[in-house]
Amino acid sequence: MTAAADTPATTNTPNRIWDVIIVGQGLAGTTLAWQLLHAGASVLVIDEEAPVTTSKIAAGLITPITGQRLALSWRVDDMLPAARAFYARVEATIGQKVFHDRTAVRLFKSDIERDLWMKRKELPAFQAHLTDPQPSNLLDPSIGDASGGGFHMQTAQLDVAGYLAASRAHFNYEAMALDWHRDVQLSEAASIAGGYRARHIISCEGFAATRNPYFSWVPFKGAKGDILTVRFHRPVPPQCLHRGIWVVPTSEPGVFRVGATYDWRTLDQVPSISGRAEIEDRLAAFFQVPYTVIDHKAAIRPIIRESKALMGLHPLHNRLGFFNGLGSKGSLHAPWFAGCFAAHLVNGAPLPPAFDLRRRVDPL
Ligand SMILES: Cc1cc2nc3c(=O)[nH]c(=O)nc-3n(C[C@H](O)[C@H](O)[C@H](O)COP(=O)(O)OP(=O)(O)OC[C@H]3O[C@@H](n4cnc5c(N)ncnc54)[C@H](O)[C@@H]3O)c2cc1C
Repeated sequence: MTAAADTPATTNTPNRIWDVIIVGQGLAGTTLAWQLLHAGASVLVIDEEAPVTTSKIAAGLITPITGQRLALSWRVDDMLPAARAFYARVEATIGQKVFHDRTAVRLFKSDIERDLWMKRKELPAFQAHLTDPQPSNLLDPSIGDASGGGFHMQTAQLDVAGYLAASRAHFNYEAMALDWHRDVQLSEAASIAGGYRARHIISCEGFAATRNPYFSWVPFKGAKGDILTVRFHRPVPPQCLHRGIWVVPTSEPGVFRVGATYDWRTLDQVPSISGRAEIEDRLAAFFQVPYTVIDHKAAIRPIIRESKALMGLHPLHNRLGFFNGLGSKGSLHAPWFAGCFAAHLVNGAPLPPAFDLRRRVDPL
């Protein structure tokens, strides 16, 4: 393997053989690129530069306790330290803060949810993540309801768009929409159009991988998500709020992201009227501050199984790889999974069997 980690990009040289070409610079491709660079590989990243992608619109929330059942996120006590260490290392290289600790509040929808919170809090695995329930209106008289709420601990937010943009400036990078039929030839050293050649080409294309002829057999379950950006007409606390939906601050005072919906049937990126209505209805149920919607976007989460990534080399083509399926937990999970895949590609370390493409699914 060649090239050094943590060094700025060098000019692309056609006909050079890269260790890895990554197709797609979303959260998956960006994080895998960094982990490969950290492991000493040379990497070329290509991306079609679509204006709206799942990663570009994501809120980047990292919340260890999630959902109505207040479930502990899978292996969070491994994932969170791995994510913190990884993003801190990237921040040191790019000279920009992208990982932010956040205070997050869950407002209880009912006394039943409050009771569940208290039960969970008694369990050892949850104690580091939940505070005691707090009285109602714990933040602001216009926010909250009779059942009160509680503070999530160890919550964070990745500025995903900032992370992608700053990383790109440090990568060997080409703007290119790769056509797998036309541009990819798989031989001893995999090669793509434009003279770029590599030992491995890795598809990190998010839900677009469903159109990739080499991976169309992977069983994706996409989930479209609508997300709003709103400007509140009076000051509100700059905290993340959860109550069926989440409300999270942006770097601009008074401007928050609000979302997100899950639509498993309409798999397009068109912002939907019903998605917006669902978000606004849920917001109105607990938040009485007037606002204006200043942006509305939608994209598809690449889900394969339970928001856990699937990765590895193609069962029939050793030069071709796949890293995808980050689902709703990309910000938290990407560093750990990408670290495993990078170790596999660079050092031959075995992949965790449950997430190894070759063990999990059969190509048609
Ligand atoms: C509304 C919404 C809110 C979300 N909020 C959160 C959150 O709070 N926390 C969290 O952890 N996760 C969140 N997610 C999920 C998170 O965004 C995903 O896990 C993550 O973005 C997936 O990244 P990806 O790189 O796999 O896919 P993508 O972001 O889709 O990236 C794929 C990239 O590949 C490019 N590409 C595809 N095909 C080609 C090709 N042939 N040639 C060149 N380029 C190509 C695409 O243009 C794109 O840039 C949210 C998702 C949505 C939709």
